[in-house]
Amino acid sequence: MKLLLITASSNEIKRIRKSRVIGFQQVTMPYLAAMVPHHWSIEHIDEDVNRVDINTDADLVAITFHTPSTNHVYELAAQFRQNGVPVVLGGPHVSLVPEEAARHADVIFVGEAEQLWPEFLNDFERGRSKKIYKQDVVPSLEGIPMSRKDLLYRKDLSGGIIFASRGCPNKCEFCTISVMYQNSFRKRPVEEVAREYGSFKGKVIIFWDDNIAGDIYFAKCLFKAITPYKKWWSSQASIHAGQDDEFLELAAKSGCKQLFIGLESVSQKSLNNASKTFNRVDEYYKIIEKIHYYGIAVQAGVVFGFDDDDKTIFRQTINFLETAGVQNATFNILTPYPGTPLFKRLQDEGRILTFDWSKYNARTYVVYRPKNMTPEELLEGFNWVNQRFYSIRSIIKRIGNSPTGMWWTLPLNLAYYFSNKFYGYGNIGYASYLLTHDEIV
Ligand code: SF4
Repeated sequence: MKLLLITASSNEIKRIRKSRVIGFQQVTMPYLAAMVPHHWSIEHIDEDVNRVDINTDADLVAITFHTPSTNHVYELAAQFRQNGVPVVLGGPHVSLVPEEAARHADVIFVGEAEQLWPEFLNDFERGRSKKIYKQDVVPSLEGIPMSRKDLLYRKDLSGGIIFASRGCPNKCEFCTISVMYQNSFRKRPVEEVAREYGSFKGKVIIFWDDNIAGDIYFAKCLFKAITPYKKWWSSQASIHAGQDDEFLELAAKSGCKQLFIGLESVSQKSLNNASKTFNRVDEYYKIIEKIHYYGIAVQAGVVFGFDDDDKTIFRQTINFLETAGVQNATFNILTPYPGTPLFKRLQDEGRILTFDWSKYNARTYVVYRPKNMTPEELLEGFNWVNQRFYSIRSIIKRIGNSPTGMWWTLPLNLAYYFSNKFYGYGNIGYASYLLTHDEIV
């Protein structure tokens, strides 16, 4: 029996990733592959680096995907099914919009797949698989086998990718994580994570956690356990990471070099309206200073387009990031992913402009009607921020204000500068991505 696993990516997503210098690979399939019985042979195609061959000799195809790749995945699925190969769909978009995904697949997985995956494969071999495998109860993360390292393909500057926890205890209005994981936050046993962490040969490890600061006590235990491996690591974290000295001290000792902190906005009103009241803008400078004090660089996650954002938000954000000496930043256009409270609210208010999921990429389209700007102004401001943040002028200013992370900040910022010049914002014809009237529903 042969199983073809696909980590899907549309052409547009691949183009966006090219401009981002660092684009870490998805690890779902290498983890699921580790749970497949030995009598199956496995091929894994990560579409960011390899092409899918529709004329596969596989007996079964399983595809995981995010919302922007939906149209592409449905086309792939139709071609495989036409060739007589059954298709299983799973991943974030399927969990958020299962009824839609079910129309394009033989089997769908709703929610986390690990517990039901062996049961499905067993059913499939006996010719009695069900249409839907739904994980109703939030599963434990105990005993998850190490991912299949031989199936991690992308050259992404990291030496290994791993996860220690899943989900997030918070409930931000725009976030898919809290919806997909039913507001749960779960941890793998510390010793299992440490064993897997130590098993990677490379020096730089990425924790693929939604929020490594979701349980501060757990995080401290984890940091103590991984310190002896003397590796470097980075992860996403909520602002709570920067409020606890012991957390930062242990993180730094264990090799943390950068934290991706979800600042989201420099407007307190915007944060409050997005149910992210625990982010206090008046504490941002102090928190960033504290993270820097422990030798950890900050990558800020910023979103534009909240209802309280007007055209001044772009300049305010740049002023803040430059003054605080933030080393790196990821900017997103607010995007109401299906299933989120934000999607429901904007739909009720009649402000969704398109249901074409391929445009829900948070980078090249505005898919809803913002309150205090036009969609064009939001897109233009977003592009301006990207160009300005990675301009030589801003790099010099931010690095001058960054007491730490020069070894990492300078090469990475210069890489972004050149990448933006060749692939990125302002160079891939953004005007053509604006929604036309025909597309407005
Ligand atoms: S803190 Fe981050 S991961 Fe958690 S719900 Fe908010 S946006 Fe999502």
